Amino acid sequence: MAIRFFNTYSRKIEELAPRDLKSRKIEIYTCGPTVYSRAHVGNFRAYIFEDLLQRHLEARGFKIHRVMNITDVDDKTIRGAREAKVPLQKFTQQFKDAFFQDADSLRIKRADDYPAATDQRYIDTMVSMIDVLISKGLAYQADDKSVYYRINKFPNYGKLAHFNLDELRSTGRVKHDDYDKEHIGEFALWKSWDEEDGDAKWDSPWGPGRPGWHIECSAMATALLGDQIDIHCGGVDNIFPHHEAEIAQTEGVTGKQFVRMWLHCAHLLVDGQKMAKSLGNFYTVPDVLEKSYTGRELRYALIRVNYRTQLNFTWDGMKEARESLGRIDDWLERLGEVAGGKIDSSKLDSKFGHEFDDALDDDLNISAALGFLFETIRETNRAMDENKLDAKAAAASLNWWSRINQVLDFESDGAALPEEVKKLAKARAQARLAKDFRKSDELRDKLNALGWEARDTKNGQKITRRAGA
Ligand code: AMP
Ligand code: ZN
Repeated sequence: MAIRFFNTYSRKIEELAPRDLKSRKIEIYTCGPTVYSRAHVGNFRAYIFEDLLQRHLEARGFKIHRVMNITDVDDKTIRGAREAKVPLQKFTQQFKDAFFQDADSLRIKRADDYPAATDQRYIDTMVSMIDVLISKGLAYQADDKSVYYRINKFPNYGKLAHFNLDELRSTGRVKHDDYDKEHIGEFALWKSWDEEDGDAKWDSPWGPGRPGWHIECSAMATALLGDQIDIHCGGVDNIFPHHEAEIAQTEGVTGKQFVRMWLHCAHLLVDGQKMAKSLGNFYTVPDVLEKSYTGRELRYALIRVNYRTQLNFTWDGMKEARESLGRIDDWLERLGEVAGGKIDSSKLDSKFGHEFDDALDDDLNISAALGFLFETIRETNRAMDENKLDAKAAAASLNWWSRINQVLDFESDGAALPEEVKKLAKARAQARLAKDFRKSDELRDKLNALGWEARDTKNGQKITRRAGA
């Protein structure tokens, strides 16, 4: 079955048609974090969607070259460094480090490149792109010494955001990186230096200054991936003005179609509102881990709904994630026992075929893919209950799991229990064996007090972190 995605540019589901079909190479550019504060889990919803996209395409045999930029100079980072009274580079470094730490907790596969906007190599690319835009009459230096893009000279401006092109008129100049559609204007490519910018300053043919946020992505994308790329991703809030500007800048320079497919992730919400730094309604990854949830559980909670559907972040959702992963863990353990470890499962065909992969081919329909997984778990559990699953079939199921887990990355890493918890758990298991239920309940309470939960399953006692502990 063909792989299909919803392309924001055409507003249609389209078949994936990479430029380099023969070598099965796909180039993906993903807008990365603006490192002015710790990323919140809303940002990570976007990054997890991109992780799922990459892993699924790899599972389908494509070779992915993925770039994720780091925005380490823009209005917000400069303001943050000024308020913290530290140099820009020092200010942003802490949030870059935190970003990688959180991405690792969520098992997000590393991109191939993480270019930083302040790298002189990319500043040079930005300057030369702006130079070309000026020479083509698409940009000009204004009285304030900054350089702006003449949006009315670019006939396709507004096509990605689906604005009415006939009504689209610039309302003047905008120097801010971010603005809404009521303030469409000739946006800044190069911003002349002023005192408030502090040490954020580079030389250019137009005098000292710094790049606008949008030109940064055009420069880093083309420097690393070339003039034309297969897929460009981001959250829906990136569509306008950021991605609209990226198209105008890049195509303005190259005269070629910049991106084949634009994929945008819907927002993560809190109480019906976008999770956003500016609204103060956000949680970071450490906030969630502090509630004694794991990165794997948060990964599950953020991945489980199709990327084009808004998703509400709730603690109940986190509990459900824990329960769902618990079901997968129990299932794997049972399968392992039945398979007995004697069979080389890699040689076995699974009877489950490709329904899971086919669901993801359909615009990353993760709900259908997970629905199929849990249906399979129910069926095999039933067969095991009735002693109808032989070792070979169990091994084949495990083989199928290890294949789909390359995409999901849900498997428990068997994080070691603290010594004290291990001792209590062992004592409780012994108490249950001796049918001393009073003692076993006491020990359960002790485990609870330490933030752990003891569950009694068909396969014995399971110790997991207690939700919300
Ligand atoms: P920023 O650091 O603000 O540039 O955002 C980084 C990425 O996170 C962008 O792709 C945004 O579109 C995305 N993003 C921001 N807030 C949310 C949210 N609440 N839900 C999903 N994605 C988001
Ligand atoms: Zn970007």
